[in-house]
Amino acid sequence: MNETKQPKRPPSEQTGRGDGEAPIVSEVYRKAVEHVPVATSITDVHANILYVNPAFEQLTGYSQEEIAGKNESILSDKATPLSVYKDLWKSITSGEVWHGRLVNRRKNQSKYLADLTVVPVLDDDGYVLHYMGMHRDVTDLNQLERKVKNQDALISSVIEAAPVVIVLIDTTERVAFSNSAYKELKRDLAGVEPSQHFVGALKDSLGQDIRDLCKKGFDFTAVEVSLKTDNDDTRWFACSATKVEEQDMSAAGYFTDNGACGVLLVASDITHQRRRYEQARTNAVRALMAEQQMVQGMREVISGAIFQMQGPLNIMSAASSMLERQGNSANSLQEPINQVIAAGQTALERLKLAMPNTADEPVGPVNVNEIIREVLDVSIDGLLREGVVVEWNPASVLPNVPGRANALRSLVKYLVDNAILAIRDQGGERTLLINTRVTENGDVLMEMRDSGPGFDDGILIKAYEPLFTAWTKTRSRPGMGLTLARQIILDQGGSIEIKNTLTGGGKVDVVFAAASLGHGLRALKQGVFHP
Ligand code: FAD
Repeated sequence: MNETKQPKRPPSEQTGRGDGEAPIVSEVYRKAVEHVPVATSITDVHANILYVNPAFEQLTGYSQEEIAGKNESILSDKATPLSVYKDLWKSITSGEVWHGRLVNRRKNQSKYLADLTVVPVLDDDGYVLHYMGMHRDVTDLNQLERKVKNQDALISSVIEAAPVVIVLIDTTERVAFSNSAYKELKRDLAGVEPSQHFVGALKDSLGQDIRDLCKKGFDFTAVEVSLKTDNDDTRWFACSATKVEEQDMSAAGYFTDNGACGVLLVASDITHQRRRYEQARTNAVRALMAEQQMVQGMREVISGAIFQMQGPLNIMSAASSMLERQGNSANSLQEPINQVIAAGQTALERLKLAMPNTADEPVGPVNVNEIIREVLDVSIDGLLREGVVVEWNPASVLPNVPGRANALRSLVKYLVDNAILAIRDQGGERTLLINTRVTENGDVLMEMRDSGPGFDDGILIKAYEPLFTAWTKTRSRPGMGLTLARQIILDQGGSIEIKNTLTGGGKVDVVFAAASLGHGLRALKQGVFHP
């Protein structure tokens, strides 16, 4: 009701003070409010008090006798702005209920925050007869509310200013909350939600999605996740997450415990540390591979020499056996042949002894993607020198395979070096494509394709032969690369196959066995090469 209705009786008649009080504040009112646990007062139209209930007496310290006839303003504290009273009076004189908070004083002058509702009591014609005021002391509640607000503001500002990405992801994988570092990262990812990358990467590395984390309450710390930015830069994050349960605030949820669950993910950018670590690791791998290459180079030369000597010696042994079978013991050739064979055998034994040992490397879990990346890192100079463009497509998830990491690095290095040489001989297009994937058997397959001349039929037959080389423009290689590459992969239970691509380049497929090395492990005697 918006129409303001003036009191139809003069205020003096309406206050009900003295002899008029009893009929105005009827027994019905009194009984109704007597036991209400809310401080209740009934006034005339000027807010002069006619009646207060025991809860009012208890809260304010004024008894019914001492406050009757006084104005409600006796409770007023000057901390309440005038505008609040004006708003109160504007509402109630229009016949509307007013509800608000104001600062009150008790009889002992102590202050409290009152949550007040003033209800105009109207007659049948809509004129205001009385006002009924009901108020509660909400000082404690206000303190609590302010405390929560202060804490909320504090937590929000700490989270906002934190130099780490913080995001709350709900079970539908939507972002419920994020800080400014998260929003900045989103800008770097051209608007794509970083949470999608994080959730996907965590699923890959932990096998858990947000629902699993919520269900099992599974926390994790320092899981490394990499993201590609819009500029094709890789950024690394160390992610930690914890389950966060939100209470159901709806009325229906009061007796149940159906709160929502989310995962609070904190991701710290470790790109700088990671790059430094990778640089140090690349240097270490480079140094290790340089040493290995030197040893392997010597082994290649000596193995080649043994192979070269073995052929004539075998022929001579066969000749000696033939002479012996002919029974011509006086044959003048028999003796010198045997001497040559003996000398050759001695020389072979010496060569075998001169073969430098490779370090006896233990078998451990190997990530083929990592091995390839490390080899590409250490081969970067050669690739750049020859202008080779590398297309490296690693499988996003690759199981570890059992293997000897250093030997496998050498294997990949042989193949990359071969590809560089092939491309150098060829001219024209200069690309090297490397893919990895998991085969149907669960093994790991590396496919390497180069834009070189490919293998002609003669090469395909002889490629694994020691000292065979198809390189026409290099003097640096004795032609043992593929031989040793095959030796390494067979030794570790895998296989290698060379072929030609449809477009004429060379293709090498290497299968890294996922099963234990057992059956494929070749008993390669230290320093001796068995082709
Ligand atoms: P006032 O001069 O009394 O009032 C301030 C302003 O309010 C005035 O400038 C004017 O704009 C407006 N106003 C005051 N009286 C009227 C009127 N009769 N008609 C139209 N406008 C008017 N106040 C409290 O501080 N604490 C309480 O718990 C409380 N409970 C109340 C309960 C009821 C049922 C009612 C009707 C009023 C209640 N009041 C309460 C309001 C109180 O009556 C005073 O208006 C207020 O305390 C301010 O008093 P004041 O003397 O500082 O200023």
